[in-house]
Amino acid sequence: MSEETKFFEYLRRTGLKITRERKEILREVFTSHRHFDADELFLRLKGRGAGVSRATVYRTLALLVRSHLVRKMELGDGRATYEHVLGHPHHDHLICIQCNRILEFHHPEIEELQQKVCEEFDFKMKSHSQQIYGVCKECRKKQSS
Ligand SMILES: [Zn+2]
Ligand SMILES: [Zn+2]
Ligand SMILES: [Zn+2]
Repeated sequence: MSEETKFFEYLRRTGLKITRERKEILREVFTSHRHFDADELFLRLKGRGAGVSRATVYRTLALLVRSHLVRKMELGDGRATYEHVLGHPHHDHLICIQCNRILEFHHPEIEELQQKVCEEFDFKMKSHSQQIYGVCKECRKKQSS
């Protein structure tokens, strides 16, 4: 299922309208495979002349998160970063609380254990996000020198 079909279905289900702005934002989010923050996304849209307000960008991002198309991650300084989920191989993150660098990893054993935990609780997992906060190698090097 394409991200558009999935998002439109979510909007319909929750009684929200498919607006031009929401379509523009969705398209922009899925053109990049990188982590981004809400302001970056807003500036990209503005640069394209998409005519979308900052508030709409924030609200639509929240909808994309709720419909599991986009993942939101808190950074060390309280800011948030996003990435789209669909069309991305699943991965988890190590986040440096000093430079906000994000390292991606995938560990089959962690995935399996999470599945096991869900089974124990008779819980049907829809998605998960694994964030490990710490200090990266480069930042630790800077501190010690
Ligand atoms: Zn995972
Ligand atoms: Zn760092
Ligand atoms: Zn990522």
